[in-house]
Amino acid sequence: MMEKIQVTQAFLPKEEEYAGYVSRIFASKILTNQGPNVVELEEKLQAFCQVPYLHYVTNGTIALQLALRALDVIGGEIITTPFSYVATTSSILWESCTPVFVDIEPNRFTIDPERIEKAITKRTKGIMAVHVFGFPCFVEEIQRIANKYSLKVIYDAAHAFGVTYKGHPLVSWGDIATLSFHATKLFHSIEGGACVTPHQDVYNRIDILRRFGHLGDTHYCLGINGKQSEFHAAMGLANLPYVAGIIAQRKLLSECYDSILAGCVALPKMQDKQGHNYAYYPILLKNEQTLLDVVTALNNEEIYPRRYFYPSLNTLPYLANKIACPVSEDICSRVLCLPLYVGLETAQVEKICTTIRRAMQ
Ligand SMILES: *Cc1c(COP(=O)(O)O)cnc(C)c1O
Repeated sequence: MMEKIQVTQAFLPKEEEYAGYVSRIFASKILTNQGPNVVELEEKLQAFCQVPYLHYVTNGTIALQLALRALDVIGGEIITTPFSYVATTSSILWESCTPVFVDIEPNRFTIDPERIEKAITKRTKGIMAVHVFGFPCFVEEIQRIANKYSLKVIYDAAHAFGVTYKGHPLVSWGDIATLSFHATKLFHSIEGGACVTPHQDVYNRIDILRRFGHLGDTHYCLGINGKQSEFHAAMGLANLPYVAGIIAQRKLLSECYDSILAGCVALPKMQDKQGHNYAYYPILLKNEQTLLDVVTALNNEEIYPRRYFYPSLNTLPYLANKIACPVSEDICSRVLCLPLYVGLETAQVEKICTTIRRAMQ
């Protein structure tokens, strides 16, 4: 039987490294509520991301929802991108806000700042942009607009762990940046996420929000359970030392794809790979039919790429207001993410590329 190649495979540390952190749990009998593993992971993540304030939470979706709550934008219009995973949009809807989709810039796939100002109304309260595939948003331009109209900025940085921009961590941009540590992400703690903020008051608010809105018997506000368990933190602690190696390995595999696929498929045009994390390997096909042909050919070889992202989020069936985003809809119809993970072999990359080339003849 042929070995299946999925788009990604969760990274695992050495079993005894995870077990070491689990032993602590059995010794302390502390399973959750800011136990020693969670506290240690929060400190280490804060140092890794070089940010003053970071909360490690249940997952990347709760991180987005906490961000909307903490910045007090509930009920308002949130300008956002249609090119992302559904959690970006669903978190906005779940928190009773209205997503207002602004189309993407065709080279970087991130929200087009030139279109943001036209979408601002008196109900606009914030911007939720995504550093999609780890490509930095046009952060300076977005911040300039936010300052001009007094809007809050949230970056969904679920793909951007470890990315630096102009020498600084990308997550230091925005009022809050959120991370996802889901098993499929570059760095993971099985499930998990984080809220990063430069503001102490926002940090304090998230602290209360994620623990049901109370401290002891004093109830301050409506809250939710966003706390993470000691077992999840154990996996995060065991994985964190591997991040640099994971990025280096993904870079090698990406360069292998680059060299074999050159001239055959289009790639997103990144001006500067300095500081990139190689979290995904997206390719852009000529049209949807070519994409479907390529997917069929790969599936026949037990290779399973993913249509990240499809469909364009502005076309979700449960949206009340439909806004056209032709650039995003076009990209969504022909973008494909190829398998990329630690453990993928160059011979497998070669086979994937050969299959793609053959399908396109
Ligand atoms: C994975 C992901 C999320 C959600 O993170 P979870 O930890 O799975 O809840 C949000 N936004 C983007 C862009 C993602 O890729």
